[in-house]
Amino acid sequence: MTQAYCFKCRAKREIKNAERVLLKNNRSALKEVCPVCGGELFVIGKE
Ligand SMILES: [Zn+2]
Repeated sequence: MTQAYCFKCRAKREIKNAERVLLKNNRSALKEVCPVCGGELFVIGKE
């Protein structure tokens, strides 16, 4: 199970509906919206 750390909540959130995005450095990452605060969470290095 993949988890991302939310810096706003200072808690780990489970990745459920992550969207794959490409970062500026050409690395792929997963983007998830925190269900609690609505902030963006990124998981880098996951395919
Ligand atoms: Zn949050």
